[in-house]
Amino acid sequence: MTDAQSIVFASSNAGKIRELDELLTPLGMQVKSQIELGVEPLPETAVTFVENAIVKARHASSITGLAAIADDSGLEVDALNGAPGLYSARFAAMHDAGSGDSDNNALLLKKLEGLADDERGARFRSVMVFLRHENDPSPIIAEGVWEGHILHSETSGGGFGYDPVFCNHDTNTATSLLDKHEKNRLSHRGQAVAQLIARLSDAYKPMSA
Ligand code: IMP
Repeated sequence: MTDAQSIVFASSNAGKIRELDELLTPLGMQVKSQIELGVEPLPETAVTFVENAIVKARHASSITGLAAIADDSGLEVDALNGAPGLYSARFAAMHDAGSGDSDNNALLLKKLEGLADDERGARFRSVMVFLRHENDPSPIIAEGVWEGHILHSETSGGGFGYDPVFCNHDTNTATSLLDKHEKNRLSHRGQAVAQLIARLSDAYKPMSA
């Protein structure tokens, strides 16, 4: 890949844009969010993470004419048969219980009330795709998984989404307590980005003479 290549990131989630920017800027990639390029987000209607990511990347690429990265991610909770999963962002809204991150966390804690630590297993999953152009028939697909469990109450701190209730098993602390660099190094998204970058460097390796 040349330094000059701009890539559109097909996301409107400020937390993810900030994290991806921190991960890719040091590598000299010019990542632009779809918001700054005027791409309207699409509703996520597919039934798998990878399909959602491909649809979002194709849409952003078709509007901008740029190569595109998109991700789809969510929290899978064992005691809820993998829910909220694909619907993590809309978990509370789908149960008429509000629409913000704190509503999602409150509903999750309520659903797990009374369960012991070893019954609260969960993981974040991130699927990330790269399309060279709108009609790219072979997208590069990367996936990261971050194992942990759901705490019994919210922890204060930073991060976004379910970070205050997710205890990751790498540091055994609430994810909201992690320094952003440490979260980027360990997280599902950090893993997926690292994998994607490795594959991109392979795909764009200059041909030897
Ligand atoms: P989407 O990938 O934009 O559809 O959103 C996935 C949902 O999972 C959002 O509600 C996020 O808050 C949540 N989520 C994804 N990654 C993380 C994370 O690193 N920390 C906390 N919540 C996350």
